[in-house]
Amino acid sequence: LSRIAVLCGGTGSSKFAKALASQRRDNDELSFVANVGDNFWHYGLYICPDVDILIYALSDQLDRSKGWGVSSDSFVVKDRLALESAPDWFSLGDKDLTMSIRRAELIARGWTLASITELFCSLFGIKDQVIPATNDNVQTFVRTRLGSMHLQEFWVKYRASHLPTAVDYVGVDRAIPAEGLLETLKEKVIICPANPVTSIGPTIALGRVKKTMEKAKVVAVSPFIGSRPLSGPAYSLMMGLGIEPSSLGVAKMYSSFLTVLVVDGKEDQSIATKVKDLGIECVKTDTIVSDDESGKRIANELLGLL
Ligand code: GDP
Repeated sequence: LSRIAVLCGGTGSSKFAKALASQRRDNDELSFVANVGDNFWHYGLYICPDVDILIYALSDQLDRSKGWGVSSDSFVVKDRLALESAPDWFSLGDKDLTMSIRRAELIARGWTLASITELFCSLFGIKDQVIPATNDNVQTFVRTRLGSMHLQEFWVKYRASHLPTAVDYVGVDRAIPAEGLLETLKEKVIICPANPVTSIGPTIALGRVKKTMEKAKVVAVSPFIGSRPLSGPAYSLMMGLGIEPSSLGVAKMYSSFLTVLVVDGKEDQSIATKVKDLGIECVKTDTIVSDDESGKRIANELLGLL
């Protein structure tokens, strides 16, 4: 049996997660590790966007045009709540919301996030494991001149319009990796092309995660082409943290445990040399997933690199 952990964020990662699940070989055991730093309280519910995006993607329910939420969802509850003066800057569809309602009920009954996620996976027919990085409450806050704000406020409410100066994974010092997480990271790891600061950062900041991966074969896909990420606020967040916003910057962030960095074929020639100077192998290929076909192609390539 070949145990493969796949570190994920949300929208960008979910395309790769779905493709990897579809190309899994018979003796592969895939564990998708979900970021929990995006989690936050909204309408009195504990919303876990990246966990839910992964579950929707792996069970073929994801609204792929938006990259979040359930396909063909409606927004009756959100619109009604707005009339009742509830904040409406974060969109949650009706079907999407039911997952958080059920989760709130189970949390109140003492279930952990991992056990709730396992239940949802079995109910939705997902064969692979989805593990939230930790059951403890870790939330990503972004420091700006306006003060420190939750990542969801920074990104969704204010559309990344405030310059970030630092990022805090609040609660990470006390958090314990979810049961089985370290075990899955011991041999083979794929890091999806995700925002390294907000999607992968909270997971690898957990105690012993980086140390465990030092002994594993770790293959990461860069979310950058040149100095631009394909989407999302990775550019401003890395700049704000003083990290070069590029594939090289990503390689440096992961350098203590990274074996291979996969960069897009459109990257500058010099990138491979610079990555190799860090002691990391560099593979160039087409890394843009735009449909099932491109997803399957890169998924096979990634599995072949392990
Ligand atoms: P999100 O932040 O919740 O959208 O999710 P992730 O952190 O998982 O993914 C966001 C990152 O994925 C962004 O930095 C994008 O540049 C990157 N990304 C999205 N789609 C693709 C793709 O098809 N290929 C590559 N290489 N990167 C992608």
